Amino acid sequence: MGGRWTVETGLVEARFWRREDGRVHCYLCARHCRIPEGGIGFCGVRKVVDGRLYALNYGRIVTLNVDPIEKKPLSHFMPGALVASIATAGCNYACQYCQNWDISQRRRVEEPYTPPEYVVEEAVRRGASGISYTYNEPTIFAEYAMDVMALAHSRGLFNTWVTNGYMTVEALGEISRDLDAATVDFKGHGDRAFYRKYIWVKDAEDIFESLREMKRRGIFIEVTDLVVPVKEGLREESFERLVKFVYDELGPDTPLHFLRFHPDYRMMDVPHTPVGLLEKYVEKARSMGLHHVYIGNVWGHPYEDTYCPGCGYKVVDRYGFYITRFELDRHGRCPKCGYKLNFILRWRGVEAPVLIDTGS
Ligand code: SF4
Repeated sequence: MGGRWTVETGLVEARFWRREDGRVHCYLCARHCRIPEGGIGFCGVRKVVDGRLYALNYGRIVTLNVDPIEKKPLSHFMPGALVASIATAGCNYACQYCQNWDISQRRRVEEPYTPPEYVVEEAVRRGASGISYTYNEPTIFAEYAMDVMALAHSRGLFNTWVTNGYMTVEALGEISRDLDAATVDFKGHGDRAFYRKYIWVKDAEDIFESLREMKRRGIFIEVTDLVVPVKEGLREESFERLVKFVYDELGPDTPLHFLRFHPDYRMMDVPHTPVGLLEKYVEKARSMGLHHVYIGNVWGHPYEDTYCPGCGYKVVDRYGFYITRFELDRHGRCPKCGYKLNFILRWRGVEAPVLIDTGS
């Protein structure tokens, strides 16, 4: 733990790289940067020094907040839990509308070093049940995240990633060892033209592959889709492909959240997503067979709530990140018909706080 930290250089050697044709090939994420001597990868936090790749952002966290897990959003995993949330500078995406652009699009690391032990101790001290790796893409601080995750597990905390899913299957194989749940974020329904124009990523194929791998490895998954009201972000065939993928490959009980866009960063001229459009998507995805489809970023909307797929009874009321009524029992069963919903209410021996709060 922390053994790769060298005070002399201020650098920590990265994982997931090999030498190829006089360059370093980083295969941590699906960008597969080939970096020359002295160069830095697209994410801005991986540098080649003397033929080796170093993670400039190891332990250089920009924040340590405690959030409700519903903020990630994770609506079906340990509801009511608090999660200590960490991030670093940099990102492997270049989203032109990023709401955290001040950290994600910064290509400079200037924070002091925070040991993994401190993050875990703070999480425990501040009453969190888990740690979330979020705000910027956790893949690009994978070495640090893996060290924190292992420690977190040893202290009985769970780990969740909020990720764009744009990592390689090789890296995911190691990351997944201590990963319990993930929110995987699509934008513009995963449309190829949208990804090229607004994110600078060639397409969403690697994300679908990551989701398959997460499913194979038993990670609890929720999917989001940020609906950006520009023509490339609203293509019907991309919408249908995404919903069909979730249904066929992840299962009809997988939560899918359609998130409202708000203008930010370089896309201040694009309006908020019309709520009527989000409603249309929720209804369509439900008609295609998905059981748990939600609207996000519209507080107080009825599509924030959970309905029993067995009898239609409303079992959970939410207001934004907060649960205002929870009627499932500790096995996740509907009080009216007994249908068992896809909720994780106990993890590694710890019960979801919502059960304790409501006496379910
Ligand atoms: S993690 Fe960074 S350096 Fe590595 S492939 Fe992705 S963007 Fe490039």
